Amino acid sequence: MSHVFPRHSKSPPRLATRGEGPYLFDTDGRAYLDGSGGAAVSCLGHSDADVIAAIQAQVGTMAYAHTSFFTSEPAEELADLLIAHAPEGLDRVYFVSGGSEAVETALKLARQYMLEIGQSQRGRFIARRQSYHGNTLAALATGGNAWRKEPFAPLMIDTTHIAPCYAYRDQQDDESAEAYGLRVADELEAELQRVGPETVIGFIAEPVVGATLGAVPAVPGYFKRIREICDRYGILLILDEVMCGMGRTGTLFACEQEDVRPDIVIIAKGLGAGYQPIAATLCSAAIHDAIESGSGFFQHGHTYIGHPVACAAGLAVVTKLTEGGLTVRAAELGDMLHAKLRAALGQHPHIGDIRGRGMFRGLEVVEDRETKTPFDPARGVHKALKKAAFEAGLLCYPMGGTIDGQRGDHVLLAPPFILNESQIDELVEKLGGAFKTVL
Ligand code: PLP
Repeated sequence: MSHVFPRHSKSPPRLATRGEGPYLFDTDGRAYLDGSGGAAVSCLGHSDADVIAAIQAQVGTMAYAHTSFFTSEPAEELADLLIAHAPEGLDRVYFVSGGSEAVETALKLARQYMLEIGQSQRGRFIARRQSYHGNTLAALATGGNAWRKEPFAPLMIDTTHIAPCYAYRDQQDDESAEAYGLRVADELEAELQRVGPETVIGFIAEPVVGATLGAVPAVPGYFKRIREICDRYGILLILDEVMCGMGRTGTLFACEQEDVRPDIVIIAKGLGAGYQPIAATLCSAAIHDAIESGSGFFQHGHTYIGHPVACAAGLAVVTKLTEGGLTVRAAELGDMLHAKLRAALGQHPHIGDIRGRGMFRGLEVVEDRETKTPFDPARGVHKALKKAAFEAGLLCYPMGGTIDGQRGDHVLLAPPFILNESQIDELVEKLGGAFKTVL
């Protein structure tokens, strides 16, 4: 009997013992191609020699120094590297250990900024339905999954939600992509008017929606309009790139493709590539300077912020993504993956849409392609697909059921950027096999 508290008590997981390249192996020696990088984490596969060497060197030199006494070389270098490649205006980096922690940091930082500039009446956020921002309490409140929040409803911070930009389902037949993007972005303005714009701290969104929709980017112009509205009402634009950042969509930051200047960007998963738990909240100089020239103290902090070994791992990862050219590789491989998915599964009667950017792809699973009718959630199609793929030796990340009123199933793919062409073929073939088994 295991004493580890599992995610799902009724179906405890198999034991994994080894990772090599894009494969994980279980105790029976069975290989699993990691088609989802866990959950968009393992961008460099499972045995990257450079990242392992960087961790070993740092742990042998200085494993830990508390940030109330010291900063460290890896933290300084990683912050410099991230800011050098970040969208213009971002200036400071706050390192934590995971995505939810980084979202909490962003939300608290945004609130404290409003206090520092004398706007204490601003106490709520606006977010989007069908979004996921993490499982700690404030992050959970900003996310859209009603069923995840329901048991903890008394503990939620004040957040209201607008529609995501989800062209496959919401764009009208007689509407251009641009017109659709503006219409749905304008929901933010309407919501601000409804709740009182002077009470809102900021708007939080994923540039490419991950777990809740399956790699859905916004249409061109959507985020530019969102930025304009945020500026008009003096609220902060917070972009959650926990899943879609760090090269996953073919640029180091996903929002580079939207040509907007966010006030806060949150990164995690791919930053440590699974070798160390590390995440970060990047903020503008304006936010940092308001605190520096005001109270001088961000009222936050955990024991492991800026952990030197985690930062050393992050530094090795981001160096490979930028100077090592792996982000460019992710863009090229992503195009190849997309083309092969379309060729193999594009006409499948139960696949309504194949979408995404770079090595972040989603397939929307429907009962009827013409009407886009989703499967009845009771059929558990996404669970069956995950199981069939797993049994065929492929890890993919399906989600589905009902997410805040939106029914549907999808499969999310987020493989390592180190796949070769035959491994991409293996992924597509095994996924096709899973669809054949289930549908
Ligand atoms: N934000 C997004 C967009 C995510 O996809 C996730 C996790 O999947 C989180 C936040 C939370 O990150 P973590 O699970 O590392 O706490």
